[in-house]
Amino acid sequence: MAATLIDGKALAAKLKKNVLEETQTLPRKPGLAVILVGDNPASRVYVTSKRKDCEECGFYSEEYALPAETTQKQLLDLVAELNGRADIDGILVQLPLPKGLDEKEVLLAIDPSKDVDCFHPYNVGQLTIGTPVFQPCTPGGVMEMLEEYGIDPAGKRCVVLGRSNIVGKPMAMLLLHAHGTVVMCHSKTPDMKELAASADILVSAVGKTGLVTADMVKEGAVVIDVAMNRNDAGKLCGDVCFEEAAVKVSYITPVPGGVGPMTRAMLMKNTLTAAKLHQGL
Ligand code: NAP
Repeated sequence: MAATLIDGKALAAKLKKNVLEETQTLPRKPGLAVILVGDNPASRVYVTSKRKDCEECGFYSEEYALPAETTQKQLLDLVAELNGRADIDGILVQLPLPKGLDEKEVLLAIDPSKDVDCFHPYNVGQLTIGTPVFQPCTPGGVMEMLEEYGIDPAGKRCVVLGRSNIVGKPMAMLLLHAHGTVVMCHSKTPDMKELAASADILVSAVGKTGLVTADMVKEGAVVIDVAMNRNDAGKLCGDVCFEEAAVKVSYITPVPGGVGPMTRAMLMKNTLTAAKLHQGL
């Protein structure tokens, strides 16, 4: 392997340590409330790891595990109650919600100053005009990685595969604000292979194992694999054919141990930001 491995696990640990140090200087510890509706096993794992992250960062945290039969009104009432709580700085509703619940309405109900996931249209708008309060967690984590490894997107051709509201779009926006020349690809892009192969920085957030083959990466490129897929053997993997790409590129993220831990760390960073905001700091 010729490429340098971008170690998301180590960087996330460093980020969380910094968050803990800053938390210890605050008059009141940051508080995060996590709401989980229904019994999605993957979501349960995420909630458990968020609790662990909060402990590591010295945060106060609360979890609400609500039954799948929870009504829209019950969920909105809980969000309203948490919006009004002075000890809660961040509110996170674990997605996806069970069928029958209106995700959009729930996300809109969260006080934008407590929207630590950066999903509320107010925060998306702030991000778009270049004055973000919070960094969207996954793309923000990618930007932290680039910075840590001295990779400056300015003037580089950045190609983002995927255009979801959670990853692809905010990723493109952050790269654009960092003065990259950004191209976005999606399922209707006919020449994705060629576009990907022209990238100095390639970010893949599609969710298809084996999508990015070696011929789709440029010699010396930086490759960031956001995806978290399961291969046929049930092993966690990304979109990129890691072994064959790693011999060509200059930097590459592993899966697991790449973007995933950074997403979690960025949530902690955003909760700290919210706590500082709420404490007038
Ligand atoms: P998503 O909402 O399903 O979006 C996938 C995107 O990929 C869509 O924009 C879709 O295009 C595009 N796409 C689908 N097939 C394609 C193809 N053959 N060629 C090009 N584009 C294609 O997924 P997401 O929530 O953004 O997540 C993407 C991946 O990242 C998943 O593996 C997810 O597990 C992972 N993820 C990881 C983290 C982390 O912390 N590491 C966080 C979030 C998500 P259309 O818009 O045209 O349908």
